[in-house]
Amino acid sequence: MPMTDSRTLYIHTIGCQMNVYDGEQIERMLAGRGYRPVAGPESADLVVVNTCAIREKAEQKVFSFLGRLARLKRERPGMMVAVGGCVAQQEGEKIRKRAPCVDVIFGTRSINALPGLLDAAEVTGRPQAELAMSPGEAAFVTARPPEAGAGPASAFVTIMQGCDNFCAYCVVPRVRGREVSKPPESTLAEIENLVAAGVREVTLLGQNVNAYCGGAGGCDFPELLARVNAVEGLRRIRFTTSHPKDLSEGLMAAFGRLDKLCHHIHLPVQSGSDAVLARMNRKYSRQIYMDRVAALRDHCPDIAITSDFIVGFPGESEADFEQTLSLMDAVRFDGVFAFNYSDRPGAPAARFRNKVDPAASSRRLERLLNFQKTVTTEKHAAMVGKVVEVLVDGPARKSAPQFTGRTFGNAIVNFTPEPADRMDQMDLMDRTDLMDQFRPGRRVRVLIEAAFAHSLRGKPEPREAKGEKSHAA
Ligand code: SF4
Repeated sequence: MPMTDSRTLYIHTIGCQMNVYDGEQIERMLAGRGYRPVAGPESADLVVVNTCAIREKAEQKVFSFLGRLARLKRERPGMMVAVGGCVAQQEGEKIRKRAPCVDVIFGTRSINALPGLLDAAEVTGRPQAELAMSPGEAAFVTARPPEAGAGPASAFVTIMQGCDNFCAYCVVPRVRGREVSKPPESTLAEIENLVAAGVREVTLLGQNVNAYCGGAGGCDFPELLARVNAVEGLRRIRFTTSHPKDLSEGLMAAFGRLDKLCHHIHLPVQSGSDAVLARMNRKYSRQIYMDRVAALRDHCPDIAITSDFIVGFPGESEADFEQTLSLMDAVRFDGVFAFNYSDRPGAPAARFRNKVDPAASSRRLERLLNFQKTVTTEKHAAMVGKVVEVLVDGPARKSAPQFTGRTFGNAIVNFTPEPADRMDQMDLMDRTDLMDQFRPGRRVRVLIEAAFAHSLRGKPEPREAKGEKSHAA
């Protein structure tokens, strides 16, 4: 029974950008069935929980949120709860043992089944589940495109599902299945629809986009990027994540060749020790990683490189950790994400014996983060006085006339068009004109005036600065 009357929907997303993308698709899919989004679960007829299993803490968050929903459901028994994502795929119907308030469970490749599951749960009054690992294009969620002009400045586009790499600490291949690529034609049509809706920057998503191989002709990732680069109206392309072992010469060359491809790559290294990398089953050495970084910088000297680290992986010694710091010193990343290792049930490393003392691991993590903070701050400080092109994301703070956006290299820039007192004196029309120049999706040249550990601050610069390259069409 299709549901066409107006109902309210709240989507709670935990985890990575792929979950954020799935949440956006679910919202559009259910909008076609009369659901309109609300700001919180308290007033929602349907709550969809988009779960993450990558770390124990993320999984704990899921069950703590479900506990909150159980209390709400006691007050409003008509509310429905659906759980999707990696925890749903991994735990399946066991979720209901810990959280009986759940009406629908859907797996990572069963999002298209959600409307039918909701109908069935409503009609029968019984919980429903679908966990099939749909093959091929069916693995990807298909929602209607956003309305013309309704798109944000930037949007995610999932181009791959799953992973074939089986890193020792990771459950992704088990919960998202083996690699499958979305055909290039579907990817391009999706991007063209987003651009028509007002999107100016897309981030192509997959667990390892370098392994992309879509369509009958086996279009590889550099070829896909070239085709996306040709989409009229699009200004910037980003992608994540890349596995170092699959970073091809063609992809590295694309950074110097494609004018819309942002000069930023996220290239997770995880450790600087060969012994740890081997135990992690990463399939590259410290030297191979450093060689790839050097080659990337040959192709694109100003490329920003960010990375991920796992600290305290089983068996990591102090000497191994020093190797990590020395790699960071040699590469000088633009930013890193780093976490203490924690066991994931089902991942091979959970069975490894020589676990690192949590206190020692936390001390190492703190050293690593402090080291990176110094490097990022120095890199940001070197940008003071330069003019950069910023793609506007939107207002930085609701209460102040401050905007935020990102450079071609992915640094966050906050800027204020005019001092607040001058803004206050402007008439409404001038103020509206000014604000229009900084709408989401606009490109603004900004003179950098101050640098911080996580962002830069500046003011819009109308003139073309000497020596600055203006990126994108
Ligand atoms: S590359 Fe490794 S860490 Fe990344 S999703 Fe695949 S198995 Fe997990």
